[in-house]
Formats: sequence, C-alpha cells, structure tokens
Amino acid sequence: MTQPLIARSLQSLHRARTELGRRNATVALVPTMGALHDGHISLVRLARRRAKKVVVSIFVNPTQFAAHEDLGSYPRTWKADLAKLTAEGVDLVWHPDAKTMYPDGFATRIAPEGPALAGLEDRFRPHFFGGVATVVAKLFTQVRPDMALFGEKDFQQLKVVSRMARDLDLGVKVIGGAIVRERDGLAMSSRNVYLSPEERSAAPVLFRTLKDTAKRLRGGDRLKAALADGAEAIGRAGFVLDYLEARHADTLAPVSSLTDGPVRLLVAAKLGTTRLIDNIRA
Ligand code: AMP
Repeated sequence: MTQPLIARSLQSLHRARTELGRRNATVALVPTMGALHDGHISLVRLARRRAKKVVVSIFVNPTQFAAHEDLGSYPRTWKADLAKLTAEGVDLVWHPDAKTMYPDGFATRIAPEGPALAGLEDRFRPHFFGGVATVVAKLFTQVRPDMALFGEKDFQQLKVVSRMARDLDLGVKVIGGAIVRERDGLAMSSRNVYLSPEERSAAPVLFRTLKDTAKRLRGGDRLKAALADGAEAIGRAGFVLDYLEARHADTLAPVSSLTDGPVRLLVAAKLGTTRLIDNIRA
C-alpha cells in the first residue's frame, strides 16, 4: 500500500494540490484533529466515493480551545493515524504546525453568526465556532477542495461550516456524514480515551436517553416533559448536563413540538472532566 503524500508546508501543499488536480480530478477534503477513529474513517470513505482524490488534514487547532480546555492533553497519534489513512488509500495528508497556520502577527478571525449563535455549544464554548470557522476557511483556501466532509456528530459545527462556505462563496460543497458509534451506542470521539472505566460504562446513557426521548416524542408525549425526564436520567447516571434540547434540524431554532420539525435532539454533558456531545433525529 502506498503511503499518502504528506505536506507540512504551504509550498509542498500547493505543489501536491496541483498534482492531484491534474485531468480535472475532483478533490475532497476531510478536516480532522487526528487521533483518528472509525468516525473519521467513515468520512474518508464517503469522500472516496464522492471524489477522485482525497485529502485529510490533521491539525489540532489552538484557536478553537479556550485556555482551560484540553489543547495540551488532546490525544496525538500521528503514526497510527498515518497507518489508517494509508490503508484507506488517502492521497494527501495536510499536516501543518501551528506556526504555519498562525504565523507571528496573525490577526484575523472569522465571526460566524446564525447557527453559531444558536445557544447550544456556543453557550458553553463561546470561543469555539470563531476558531473553527477561521481554521476551516483557511483549510478551504489552502487545499481548494471541491467538497469537504464533516460529521453530524458535531451537528452545530456542520451547520456553521455549511453556512460559512455559502456566505463567503468559498466554492466548497459541504457534505455531512452520519454518526459512527461504539457497539453500546456511545458516539465515537477522540476524547473517549479520557474516560475512566466507570465513566466509560456510564457514557452510553447519553445516546440511550436521546433514543428514549425521541421515541416518547414520536409516541405523542409533550416535548417539555420528555426533555425534563431525559435531563434527569442523564443526571442520575453521573453526568453534569450542559443542555438537552430539541431544535429545528435545518435552522437550529427552538421548537415546541415534533410538528415544528424536522427536529433534532442535541445533548452535551460532562462526565468527570470529559465533555461529551451527541445528537439524534427525533
Ligand atoms: P475532530 O477530529 O474531532 O475535529 O473531528 C473531525 C471530523 O470528524 C468532524 O467533522 C467530526 O464531526 C467528525 N467526527 C468525529 N466523530 C465522529 C463520529 N463518531 N461519527 C462521524 N463523524 C465524526
């Protein structure tokens, strides 16, 4: 199996990109922060089906972490990541360092609105979508992909990036991929390695609660009561809940019943020091 080309400087990225685009080959980008798991790989496979050439970026983006968050301890597994991407036949890995992305004097930040101010993740991580939008805009202009793939796992992020690509005429089609889960339902995440054995066994409660709540809503239960019971179940399992909410799946606007839909249920909660998020169609 041939290893993907690896670019660490803008110059080598541009050289490789020109090569990939020969004969008008379409190019798909899968942006990641590394510590790759089957969720990332499902996006790579989706990319493979949609485009001739696949680029994966691996960059732990400092501007989307707040000072108290886990930038320093975020898992970095370069060798294993590269082996996985080699096995998937990825064409190019874009692996810049922080100085390449944010050289001295860097002073520009994109301020997304709309879905980025929906009152979900932004309420608890106010710096987050500005950092994501800025790095994704840079990745899009650096790599110039025809399309880019993002997971529904980060549902609000998918909306923010789609909106930005359209608003700024970036010429990139943003495509969402379904959430990949562990056998017990826990959404795969690079952060799951932080969980202690006890926390790991409690963690599937998040998905189970989403499923139970969706089922109750489909059965005609009132939204408010179903969400309140869901919040209680999550608390009982040892989580500290940030939010459990029902939102319009396209606009992220609050809804008061399933008939306002399509409805998405979204949850974020902390188990010990690990913050987990998940979502499901209601
Ligand atoms: P990250 O490396 O956590 O920044 O994630 C990179 C991309 O993979 C993002 O578009 C995520 O939404 C996506 N992703 C992460 N976990 C999953 C999962 N369990 N299923 C599907 N996509 C995922």
